[in-house]
Amino acid sequence: MKYTIATLASHSALQILKGAKDEGFETLAIATRDKASFYKRFSFINEVIELDTYRDLFKIENKLKQRNVIIIPHGSFVAYLGEDYEKKLEVPQYGSKKVLTWEGDRLKQMKWLEESNLLLPKLYNQASSIDQLVIVKLYGAKGGSGYFLAANQEDFQKKIIKFKKEKYIIQQYLVGTPVYLQYFYSKMENRIELMGIDRRYETNVDGLSRIPYQYAKSIDMEPTYTVIGNFPIVVRESLLPEIYAMGERVVAASQKLIPGQGLYGPFCLETIITKNQKFYCIEISCRIVAGTNLFVNGSPYTDLVYNEPMSTGKRIAREIKNAIRLNRLKEILD
Ligand code: ATP
Repeated sequence: MKYTIATLASHSALQILKGAKDEGFETLAIATRDKASFYKRFSFINEVIELDTYRDLFKIENKLKQRNVIIIPHGSFVAYLGEDYEKKLEVPQYGSKKVLTWEGDRLKQMKWLEESNLLLPKLYNQASSIDQLVIVKLYGAKGGSGYFLAANQEDFQKKIIKFKKEKYIIQQYLVGTPVYLQYFYSKMENRIELMGIDRRYETNVDGLSRIPYQYAKSIDMEPTYTVIGNFPIVVRESLLPEIYAMGERVVAASQKLIPGQGLYGPFCLETIITKNQKFYCIEISCRIVAGTNLFVNGSPYTDLVYNEPMSTGKRIAREIKNAIRLNRLKEILD
């Protein structure tokens, strides 16, 4: 049977479809009309389907099913298709849908990360207990609009007025280096792979940090964290054993919490490493993250494992190809 790998034309679609083509699959980009001509520039994309809105994907599912399409979700799916898109989607997707429910619920996500023995930033249940710099995150805030920092209780009360009716969490602000760990858990090989490491380039927080101190003092501006791009990182080699162990613990905990449906495929631990070289996890993303776009041609970490360029997109396609060969495709589609 011939399979087509498809995704929404955005986020990491180029990497996903390039990888799929390299592994011998037919490739399909599902684009809105304004984006279609851009995606048609790339010869590794066999077909671009044009829709008025991404949500029209649900209207063409029958057509996609007939063509044995496998959808690869990425970081823009929730934004374009809605919070619970996975409950509606009938075309098989690569990756466990139950895991996305755990990821989408902040409390469940924390339980999972705690169960994985990861260090987490302290949570403040009430403003009166704020005793250090905190970051306040509104539910559903993206790219930092709806995030603010508060130096103390008084500062918090002054700033929260604007958001009175919304739900938020108050979290310890961790001073350290942001490090985003890109993993792949292969069900076929039963192993964790480190695909790459990055940090984000964010506007305007990275701009604010360039202002010399004598001028910064006079600026009263909240930082925002909209991701514009990513920088590659290689970490001290002595940190690598813990990085692998953290990935393994997260997968093991997911198998315990979601029996028969644990996490597999690409995922990312968003961490901050503090001055005593401890990893604190601020979030997990259970899908391909945009930081992997740095490594279309492989990363220093995939080079150690594969004697060929290996992107996360290509790794996904390789896993699907192996599953087809082993007659185990059902195990990795949901
Ligand atoms: P995502 O696309 O991953 O869902 P997001 O917009 O929800 O992103 P985060 O990645 O969680 O946002 O955080 C935005 C920024 O705030 C990042 O630069 C991150 O490093 C920083 N940040 C988040 N939580 C903390 C924290 N507890 N201490 C210090 N910095 C933090």
